[in-house]
Amino acid sequence: MASNNDAPTRVLMVSFPAQGHINPLLRLGKHLAAKGLSVTFSTTESIGKDIRAATSANNALHWRIGAGSLTFEFFEDGLSDDDPMRKNLLDYTVQLERVGRKVISHMIKKHAESNGLFSCIINNPFVPWVCDVATELGIPCALLWIQSVAVFTAYYHYFNKSLPFPTETDLYLDVPLPNVVLKHDEIPDFLHPFSPFPFLGKLILEQFKNLSKPFCILVDSFEELEFDCVKYLSKHLLVRPVGPLVKDPTHGNGVIRGDMVKVDDCMGWLSSKAPSSVVYISFGSVVYLPQEQIDEIARGLLMSKVSFLWVLKPPRRNLGLEPHVLPEGFLKQTSEGGKVVQWSPQEEVLAHPSVACFLTHCGWNSSMEALTFGVPVITFPAWGDQVTNAKFLVDVFGVGVRLGHRQAENKVVTGHEVENCLLKAMVGDTAEVLKRNALKWKDAADTATAHGGSSYRNLDAFVADIKTRSM
Ligand code: UDP
Repeated sequence: MASNNDAPTRVLMVSFPAQGHINPLLRLGKHLAAKGLSVTFSTTESIGKDIRAATSANNALHWRIGAGSLTFEFFEDGLSDDDPMRKNLLDYTVQLERVGRKVISHMIKKHAESNGLFSCIINNPFVPWVCDVATELGIPCALLWIQSVAVFTAYYHYFNKSLPFPTETDLYLDVPLPNVVLKHDEIPDFLHPFSPFPFLGKLILEQFKNLSKPFCILVDSFEELEFDCVKYLSKHLLVRPVGPLVKDPTHGNGVIRGDMVKVDDCMGWLSSKAPSSVVYISFGSVVYLPQEQIDEIARGLLMSKVSFLWVLKPPRRNLGLEPHVLPEGFLKQTSEGGKVVQWSPQEEVLAHPSVACFLTHCGWNSSMEALTFGVPVITFPAWGDQVTNAKFLVDVFGVGVRLGHRQAENKVVTGHEVENCLLKAMVGDTAEVLKRNALKWKDAADTATAHGGSSYRNLDAFVADIKTRSM
């Protein structure tokens, strides 16, 4: 299993099979390939099928990128497409770990027979066992944390009990992070005593139990954006912010995308619109709004008369959800002013000059993408880190207005509230301040990723780390 010194440095990436996990890890893979590494990107075959169906270009499984390469290698998770276990995230993660430990270990050994051991294995959250497999085989491993540094800091404190968090008997406790105090309902809500999804908090904390194994924590963020939390964590861990990863090192020439839904063509339509005239609406890949909330957003759009590009994604297969319907005649009433798609090329949309603002659920990928392209946001978080991201977008980064503190099943935000928020974020004094701040962060992101910038240096340092460790 000896490695050949002339061969490119080889890295294996293992992603949890979800869109918000795949996108940042795949983007990191492209960056590493552009720096000359040979990257194998692995996730489940069930997702591989979706990715291949969504993007015909992805039928190719291997790409050359600069001096390096990126290859998809999917693995079976042992379940049929319609297995009920896919509906239950808790059961599914147990199954994935059971099968994944064996399959990934086998994959590594098989590669080693012809090319030697991988020099590094990189995983994202929800598959912490990948670090065990790497360690058992003597391979250095790293974690790509796919949420903010602030949210990592909150989990770090919670895990180490270094700050008190709200409990059932002390619900209203504030949590002071290095640069901001989070109120009880602004902490990542999987850590809240009454979280509707406590097992997701436990799943994320499994990664913190394993934190001695990765030699480095990479983050899709940049130092200038989260300076205080990076400084705090760096006293304890090797943290390297390398974002925004969405800034494509192949400048769009690498057709590799990880979309699990076919992208609808909307760029021509967007180009027909005036500069800064369109609100882009998307709630990511998982959040699925109640039908009544869709009706109210539609009402708000009609009342505001603002142009919009709205992603209404189909419900994920096998979840038993009904597809959303728009109010009768809605699209006719908006005439040329609106377009509804099932899935968009979001980073291209946000980079387009016609987009004025983004109504978002505040997933970290969407938040970083808005900051990267200088787009103000209207925040409408649902759960988890989204509520914390909304707090930062509005009160710390100064680029957003709140539609609702968080989505709640029993409280639908009205069309009037939607209309007010749209107008506030798009015209007048508040809109100008938001845009000014958003452009400031866009410039900072450009600088961080440019030659010699903080993220550029951090990525180079990471590549150097891998090479040194594999000698
Ligand atoms: N996305 C996309 N097209 C869409 C909607 C979303 O490409 O129509 C991408 C978006 O750019 C982001 C990811 O899907 O990279 C969603 O990740 P995020 O963390 O924002 O939310 P999640 O889906 O994890 O809740």
